[in-house]
Amino acid sequence: MVLDCESRQLNRCMTRPDRIEILGTPVDVVDGESCVVIVDSCIDQGKNCFIVAVNPEKIVRARKNKALFNALCASTILIPDGIGVVIAARLLGLADMKRLAGADLMVRLCAHAARKGYGVFLLGASEDVNQRASEALLRQYPTLNIVGRQHGYISDEDMPTIVEGVQRSGAQILFLALGTPKQEILLHRYFMEAGVPVCQCVGGTLDVLAGRVDRAPAIFRRLGLEWAYRLMRQPSRALRQRALLVFVVEALRAWLLGLYRRVVG
Ligand code: UDP
Repeated sequence: MVLDCESRQLNRCMTRPDRIEILGTPVDVVDGESCVVIVDSCIDQGKNCFIVAVNPEKIVRARKNKALFNALCASTILIPDGIGVVIAARLLGLADMKRLAGADLMVRLCAHAARKGYGVFLLGASEDVNQRASEALLRQYPTLNIVGRQHGYISDEDMPTIVEGVQRSGAQILFLALGTPKQEILLHRYFMEAGVPVCQCVGGTLDVLAGRVDRAPAIFRRLGLEWAYRLMRQPSRALRQRALLVFVVEALRAWLLGLYRRVVG
């Protein structure tokens, strides 16, 4: 896999998590603590850190969607957000890692930002959800400095003005909650050069923070069944979950192929 320039710089100047590839998509063996260390280091050194989440659905979509694939490959940290990714990494003998949900990392980064005084910008979701999410974050972290927010129902033509607004806000951390692949593609297209040190794609996390969508109970999360809970609560996601089946078949095929090669070779 070709690492972008940013990632190569990071590789040279700090301890980086190991990067593996699952069915052609890069994933980093990383936990919340190491993400915070990388984020601090990037902000201190004036470097960019682009964080995206990788799950089975995204891996399958990225195989067909070149813009999404390129956006993932150009990111600095690809967090193992889906339990399927963690299981596949173990099955294929690539890494023994733990799941790191994008929603958990966002909350952790907000807690850290509140302590360090970093400005954060919330871009995405409906105006109502965006506002409620920002209020919820402020209730939880009263010292959090939300320097700007913008709903996510925007077109390509709006982007230059929005990028300018984010730059003017002086935000150190931008959260993009626009759904996949829109958020990853817009991040890649507009924010790689925008001078915002840290950008994280957070999908539906603002809906959770705003109380519009409830997060799976802890027991589901511990068992790696958050996806099943979401499916029960939002059956409209069933079509999207078909990708999970494709992922399981492909991962098993890769595992069997590896087994065959070890036996024969
Ligand atoms: N969204 C948005 N702009 C769009 C499409 C979606 O801001 O053009 C928001 C939507 O309101 C929701 C989030 O993006 O808050 C997508 O949530 P979803 O759970 O689908 O995200 P994912 O599964 O990709 O994490």
